[in-house]
Amino acid sequence: MCGFALTGTVVGLPPDQAGAVSAPAEGEVGTSSEECAPGPAARVSDPEAAVTDGGELTPRQASEYDRQFREAILPLRGQEIQPPRAVPVVVHVISAEDGRGNVPAARIREQIKVLNTAYRGGYAAEAADTGFSFHLSEVTRTVDDTWFTRFDEYRDTIRAELRQGDAGTLNVYTADLGSGLLGYSTFPQDYESAPEQDGVVIAHDTLPGGGREGFDLGHTGTHEVGHWLGLFHTFQNGCSAPGDYVDDTPYEREAASGCPEGRDSCPRRAGDDPVTNFMNYSDDGCMNQFTEGQATRIAEHWAAFRS
Ligand SMILES: [Zn+2]
Repeated sequence: MCGFALTGTVVGLPPDQAGAVSAPAEGEVGTSSEECAPGPAARVSDPEAAVTDGGELTPRQASEYDRQFREAILPLRGQEIQPPRAVPVVVHVISAEDGRGNVPAARIREQIKVLNTAYRGGYAAEAADTGFSFHLSEVTRTVDDTWFTRFDEYRDTIRAELRQGDAGTLNVYTADLGSGLLGYSTFPQDYESAPEQDGVVIAHDTLPGGGREGFDLGHTGTHEVGHWLGLFHTFQNGCSAPGDYVDDTPYEREAASGCPEGRDSCPRRAGDDPVTNFMNYSDDGCMNQFTEGQATRIAEHWAAFRS
C-alpha cells in the first residue's frame, strides 16, 4: 500500500508502511517508485533490491517526519536535552519448530554489547559517543513455523501480541525475513498512533555470530535502532538538500554496499561518502560510527517522543 502518498500530506505513517519488501500495489500512485516506498526504515543486503522494491523513505515522507519532529521539540526549546539512562530492551525470539532461529541467550547478550559499544563510540576513534546505552530486560521465545517464516505477513499481529513496555522500551523481534531483507524499524514519530507496533525487526542470523555473510556482527541491530531513535539513512535525499537532516554526515547519492574506498558520489558537496556510518548499507565490518550531529538528533528525538 502506498495510497497515503496521494493525499499530499502524510499524517504519521501507519506502521505497516515501515515494512520493507512489499511491492507497491498496482494502480496506486504507481508511476514513480519514489512516491510509493513502503519501507522507510529497512536495511537490505543488496541496495539495488531496496531501490527495486521501493524500500526507501521518499523525500516527502522524510520531510513529514522532520516536520513532526520540529513540532514536537518546540516546547522543549531552551531545556537541556540528555540521552536517557540505559534503555530497557525486550527481545522477542520467534523460531521454527525444528529449532531454526532459536537464537541462544549468549548471542542476544552479544547483540546488546554491540549496541552499547556502537552507541558509546567504541568502534572508531572519530566515532561520536551518543550517550545512549541499553540493557537487556527480558527475552521472550515463541515457537511458530508460520510466524517465523512469514513474519512480515503477520507482523502486526505478532507485535501487538508480544510488545512490552512504553515508548522508552526497545522491543526487538527476530525471525526469518527472507533472503534480501536484514531488518526494519518504526520511527519515534509512529509511536503515538500505533504504540503496539513500535519496535525493531531483525533477521535472526544478523545477530553477532549468526552466520549471515557480511552481516553478522550485529550492526543490522545498530542500524535499525538508529531508525527507532529517529535517524534517516545517510543517503536520504541523495545529493539534494536537506540530505539526512544531519549537518556533519556528508551527502551521498545512494546506498553503499560492501566497503567502498574513497567513494564521493556527490562531488559538488563537501566530503567523501559516509560509507562507515551505521546508517548506511555497507557490510557490518565496514561500519564503525555515528556522528555528533546524529547523536544530537537522537537525543532530541528521545526527548520529543520517548522520554
Ligand atoms: Zn535503514
